[in-house]
Amino acid sequence: MRTKILLIGLDGGSADILRQFAAQGHMPFLDGLFAKAPLRALESIPPYATPAAWASIYTGVTPADHGVLDFVDPTVPGKHLVNSTSLKAEPFWQRLSVQDRRIAMIAFPLTYPPKPINGVMVSGLPAPHQGALWSWPPEFDARLKSIPGFLPDPEMSSPIVNPERSISRLERHIRAVAQATLAAHKEFGGGGWDVFGVQFQALDAFQHMFWAWIDPNDYRFSSRPEHERQRAARFFTTLDEALRQLIENLNPQEIVILSDHGFGSAYEAVCPNPLLLQHGLLTLSVSEKHLRRSLQIQRLLKRLDVFNLRARMKFSAQPRVTTRNLSRLMRDGLVDEARSPAYVFSGGYCGIVKIQPGFEATVRDVLLQARHPVSGHHLIKAVLFPADLWDLPQTSEWRHYAIIQAEAGFLIDSHFREYGVVAPISAGLSGAHRPTGILWTTLDTLQSAESVLDIAPGLLHALDISASPSQRRERDIHEQSFVSPEDQAIIEQRLRRLGYL
Ligand SMILES: [Zn+2]
Repeated sequence: MRTKILLIGLDGGSADILRQFAAQGHMPFLDGLFAKAPLRALESIPPYATPAAWASIYTGVTPADHGVLDFVDPTVPGKHLVNSTSLKAEPFWQRLSVQDRRIAMIAFPLTYPPKPINGVMVSGLPAPHQGALWSWPPEFDARLKSIPGFLPDPEMSSPIVNPERSISRLERHIRAVAQATLAAHKEFGGGGWDVFGVQFQALDAFQHMFWAWIDPNDYRFSSRPEHERQRAARFFTTLDEALRQLIENLNPQEIVILSDHGFGSAYEAVCPNPLLLQHGLLTLSVSEKHLRRSLQIQRLLKRLDVFNLRARMKFSAQPRVTTRNLSRLMRDGLVDEARSPAYVFSGGYCGIVKIQPGFEATVRDVLLQARHPVSGHHLIKAVLFPADLWDLPQTSEWRHYAIIQAEAGFLIDSHFREYGVVAPISAGLSGAHRPTGILWTTLDTLQSAESVLDIAPGLLHALDISASPSQRRERDIHEQSFVSPEDQAIIEQRLRRLGYL
């Protein structure tokens, strides 16, 4: 069975960490690959968020053209979560499909609901964990559900309450994705494959939660006990074993291994909303007294936190009674969005701020001038306007938004926190995205690739398919009703755990 190109996604894959575990003997298979060709840098695209970066990998165009900026689409009422129907540019698998090429995409982000292709499509993050149809063709769905532990993205439990369970779940996801890949390859690959893609989401979640266990440059690393470092190394060995299994079984002619962005340490959170409030750029929907009371409740929760209550709530299986209410208490119920010149509604390494016309320069200056109350260092590295980054249509809603990029070591937190502008990082997180990801490939047409924008043209070129810019497609509003409110709540909870919402 011929596999022309095997495309392996390692979400959040970072060169230093992979080289380190390869060199130490924890990833022997990857170490063997690195001996044959160099591991190179692949630049991501602002806001260095999983959905935007993968969408650029799929389409070869910037967010201005593919329409995906982050997990939330702010231009749709109700802060709609993005899904496969949010993509406004043609992904490479569509181009391959119409040319009768055989393609499989297993567990890549932004592929739920799965769309018909000439091959197999299995949904990845963000997708409902229950009751949803995850695959094209639909008959593969029952097979997926028979694989122990298969889900579109890993089930997470608190890294503080029970790190062992947390890591085992991520490892189970790696094994389940590998098993789904082998099943799809075998059951639908009669005519061979032109591109066979598989993506490992577990690496991103692992690094968000356990970065302090793996990075010697992180100041918390030296105080971690040896058994934790060994446990983290075993996680990387599990990933290495899955890569070996896939490459040996699929025996591809060409290999592409890549990530959507890199990773680094996160020590503290920057909360821009309190800063905007201080400067009269954000309007509360409640009294100052109410805000103070909300912050007191947070403080009380923290004081009562003898049994890791907050970590338990964050990772609880009841999203509607816990994290949703927490978010209301800490942001959504406090901000008068319509009357605020600016407010931040999503976080992570970058946050997204909505700005009313005329306030752009003021908001940018306030954010760029923010200083750490103790060290005096800057907190915000850049405020990026989509219209300055990309060729944006005059009518684009994105003219009202900006990307806030944190300084290295910080995460943007869109909530009000009791400490004010700088707060301790959320329970259970120690890593955040960085702009530079990885590329390792045998493919000639990707040897000069430098950015996520170069991947789709290189893949199409390798298969002799024209890489002319894809046609913009108007969004079909009716397509957006695939995710029920219950599913949306569950997906939001998972994204919140990683600090994205
Ligand atoms: Zn990612």
